[in-house]
Amino acid sequence: MSINRSLLVSLLALTVPSAGFSQSQVSSTAVPIPARLKVFDPAYIDTSVNACQDFFAFANGGWIKHDTIPAAFSTSGVSKDMTDANELVVRSVLEDAMAARKRRPANSTVAKLGRYYASCMDSARAEREGVSPVKADLAAINAVSTRSELIREIATLQRNGVGALFNFFPNADPKDAEHYMVWITQGGLGMPDRDYYTKTDAASDSLRRKYVAHVAKLLTLAGEPASVASAEAQRVMALETELAKASMTRVEQRDPNATYHKTTIADLQQLSGPISWRQYFQAAGMTTPVSYVNVSQPDFLRRAGELVNSMPLEDWRAYLRYHLLSAASPWLSSDFANENFAYRALYSGAKEMLPRWKRCLRVTDGQLGEALGQAYVERTFSPKAKADAKQVIDDIRASFQNRLMNLSWMSDSTRRYALSKLARMNEKVGYPDKWRDYSTLDVEDGSFAPNVFRADAFEWRRTINRPGKPVDKTEWGITVPTVNAYYDPSVNEMVFPAGALLPQTFDASGDMAANYGSLGGSWAGHELTHGFDDEGRHYDAEGNLRDWWAATDSVRFNEQAQRVVDQFSGYIQVDTMHVNGKLTLGENIADYGGLLTAYDALQRALARTGQRTTVDGYTPEQRFFIAYAQSWREHTRPEQLKTRVTVDPHAPAEWRTNGPVSNMPAFAKAFNCKPGDPMVRPLSSVPQIW
Ligand SMILES: [Zn+2]
Repeated sequence: MSINRSLLVSLLALTVPSAGFSQSQVSSTAVPIPARLKVFDPAYIDTSVNACQDFFAFANGGWIKHDTIPAAFSTSGVSKDMTDANELVVRSVLEDAMAARKRRPANSTVAKLGRYYASCMDSARAEREGVSPVKADLAAINAVSTRSELIREIATLQRNGVGALFNFFPNADPKDAEHYMVWITQGGLGMPDRDYYTKTDAASDSLRRKYVAHVAKLLTLAGEPASVASAEAQRVMALETELAKASMTRVEQRDPNATYHKTTIADLQQLSGPISWRQYFQAAGMTTPVSYVNVSQPDFLRRAGELVNSMPLEDWRAYLRYHLLSAASPWLSSDFANENFAYRALYSGAKEMLPRWKRCLRVTDGQLGEALGQAYVERTFSPKAKADAKQVIDDIRASFQNRLMNLSWMSDSTRRYALSKLARMNEKVGYPDKWRDYSTLDVEDGSFAPNVFRADAFEWRRTINRPGKPVDKTEWGITVPTVNAYYDPSVNEMVFPAGALLPQTFDASGDMAANYGSLGGSWAGHELTHGFDDEGRHYDAEGNLRDWWAATDSVRFNEQAQRVVDQFSGYIQVDTMHVNGKLTLGENIADYGGLLTAYDALQRALARTGQRTTVDGYTPEQRFFIAYAQSWREHTRPEQLKTRVTVDPHAPAEWRTNGPVSNMPAFAKAFNCKPGDPMVRPLSSVPQIW
């Protein structure tokens, strides 16, 4: 369940989940609680399936048989159910803010939150206004008549959150983790990944034709004659294809050394000549001069510079108009919103749009998450829940430490450092100690799309002059109601927001064995192991990209990691498409290490408490593994599975379950599986890492 910023953005853009509660079920103050989720639920089990044949089908089959994915979603299961529950709470927070917005001082965070959500919910206004909320932005693009004006306009759009040509943001310096530096990374594509532009199969060809039609449709809706828009859409496709061909693949980007190129401003200018960086920095609002940047993909930036020079300005204007309209279309009139949805549904498989309140709630959480987080925490997360969750995480840390001390393949020098990296790994549980200050955020009554741009501009202003300054280690990368967690190697910390620490992940009053399988395995053990996966292992205890491994240990690690690659590459993702074992390697190592560690933690807890009771006919070990499998309870549309094979570093839920358990003798013992059973892989091919 780890995320990184760019992936999160692409997944959020593609996933069109959640619905299910009609208006009448929801009132503004009383929060109805949906059917209570259990960390271990015997009702999900399909007892007609042999656990040793297909453990995922055994643990979740009873549920899957009766589940229908709601029309507005691409998946159903744990993540959707927990998100639905959290969103009811967030909705009550937002409706309270909306009701209070005229009574509170206009510049207070509550009033801004209320104004923002109210302006999003005003569908009548959006309908009435058509394209007019972005008319001025389109005019600014159309006024671009020189290459240097083009660069300034690209910076202006990026400030407002519109993706164009490349990404530009401050982040920790991988070789000086205490300080921020500027990162310039590849970007500027309208399809979800560079592979969609380069693959030659019929399905990719069809998606490309649909993308061109979508670009043309948005340009037409904005008032261009259809024939002009069609020709422009072809040229947008041609431009993006050039950018895609110069882009690194996701697998290539898994090597953090391959995306680190510290570059002086003079060399940056040399590399990408036609882009005037002086003009760009100025238009980006950078008031503190920088002397160097990280150019993640130099070949991409060189090509971007060439294209700035060689492509007609007319093509660039069409490209920028499309990206502006694409960013704004969910919030314009329904002709725009429907076209945006129909295009994205090609990748998600969703059949209808989410209800407006869910769409508005999600964009509010995404842009003003810390404005609503505090009230969310007050309504959901007690100090006791935090302490109980921390206990499980502490046990996981102790168990991983013990595993490190006993690894036979690791030399003592590497082991000593690994132990110190673990000891210095920070954790954040529940919610931030200090909440973001929104006093300089501007939110207006009126059209919503400009408020989205204002909120992005606020975030840009808040961070753009960070390069050279100390990294703010109190910040959170996801919001408090989010059903997710992450490990960030650049600060060596794992983060578990309150929204994820509820049933079905964790229930302090529930079965301990189940809590160790779910929170212990899929969450805490998983995130901790990310610190030592194929990417995380390259970072030291302070978050610096620095090789602390004895050469022989790196060789051994890579040999065992290759076994994980081979194991998962053998699994089918959907139809005849295989899982990409290289793309999903880090997540698969984290799942496997997480489950091994959590199993040890369970044994420690059982020894400590002496509680070995059988519940619903299952032993503690069986409930542990079933809860692990049920934490991956998910039912996914094929369109979504196809998209994920290209963009998602996680394997499908089925393999996140069956992959790790079939490597574990403790699992075979718990369910009395025999050699030769599908859930018992031969020891000679089982990876031995953590
Ligand atoms: Zn992960």
